[in-house]
Amino acid sequence: MRADPPASGAARVPQAVYLDYHATTPVDRRVFAAMAPYFTTHFGNPHSRHSFGWQAEAAVAHARGHLAKLINARPDEIVFTSGATESNNLAIKGLARSRSSRGRHIVTVVTEHHAVLDPCHSLEREGFRVSYLPVDGEGRLNLEQVAEALTPETILLSVMAANNETGVLQDLPALGRLAREHGVALHTDAAQAVGKIPVDVRAWQVDLLSLSGHKMYGPKGIGALFVRRDGPTDLVAQMEGGGQERGLRSGTLNVPGIVGLGEAALIAAQEMAEESRRVAEMRDHLRDRLLEALPDVRVNGSWQHRLPHNLNVSFAGVDGDALMMGLQDVAVSSSSACRSGEAGPSYVLQALGLPPALAQATLRFGLGRFTTPAEVETAATQVIQVVRALRDVAL
Ligand SMILES: *Cc1c(COP(=O)(O)O)cnc(C)c1O
Repeated sequence: MRADPPASGAARVPQAVYLDYHATTPVDRRVFAAMAPYFTTHFGNPHSRHSFGWQAEAAVAHARGHLAKLINARPDEIVFTSGATESNNLAIKGLARSRSSRGRHIVTVVTEHHAVLDPCHSLEREGFRVSYLPVDGEGRLNLEQVAEALTPETILLSVMAANNETGVLQDLPALGRLAREHGVALHTDAAQAVGKIPVDVRAWQVDLLSLSGHKMYGPKGIGALFVRRDGPTDLVAQMEGGGQERGLRSGTLNVPGIVGLGEAALIAAQEMAEESRRVAEMRDHLRDRLLEALPDVRVNGSWQHRLPHNLNVSFAGVDGDALMMGLQDVAVSSSSACRSGEAGPSYVLQALGLPPALAQATLRFGLGRFTTPAEVETAATQVIQVVRALRDVAL
């Protein structure tokens, strides 16, 4: 971890190459421009019955339409929240505690984000039983194991669409079929997938889907939960009050954030295909450079079933903290730094079978919309240099 930027703002900090797009993305300038008027001139409350309110209400409806279209949902199936963490909590705890939920068993996966695992732990303390399924060496679920885990007591299957460390994709259409066959609701944390790969709630047959604005070039503090209309509609709200968002999420709507998320969704729908090709090409080049220059480099996670902008690599015989410290001009994550303050090697990589020492010697690269080939070159050169230096010391 690098030192914090000075309190006066980051102006004097030399700009590092940013390759941490899984942690967050910059707000696209077009998104920012769309949002700006909704802070100042168009500041109305969308629930007010006058022209200021109607203007805000129309903007929210417009944004809701764009977001729904991106995931092939209906606009009335979108519930705006503060982000994917809140969406996951609403989906998992809201469903488990709803009146129509009859059983007390939930199935999820060991490699899920903490925003899924922690609500599951909460429910265990309330008497629910949770099965945490393992993944294979590529980070993928075994569908037969999923089928075996589903019992008549099971109410929910929660499986992320794309992993935030390895970028590994799960087979959502197949999981959707399984969940339907067993009469189990399916939730997916798609925070890393939406806007990066095609997401289709109908083709996937998901009942609940979480997404986040700041992972797709929108602002922080806004997200959404897709709640299927003919699915589990009596979720217990986490936030009670004015009854906004079908009563599932009370509180005055974050209009600028929603406008930003809508614009981000519109841009993603238009540019995703071209952007994925361009970013994947740079990502592949980065992998090739590292593998050609360095021995004992391991690429973690399935290469075939993977986000186009993710590269997760371990460097045997290198100390992960020293590696991070050495990378002065490249902002990446060590896979161990995914939860603030958490020490120790990544539980995700260990679930793929990596020994702790190798898991600790890992970098997660997340490329994105504003990454350039020159930046990738800088990053590759610096990583190669630092790994070589550390290995020389270790000899
Ligand atoms: C970032 C992320 C979250 C949390 O999203 P917020 O909008 O920051 O709350 C949840 N799940 C995954 C997979 C993520 O990558």
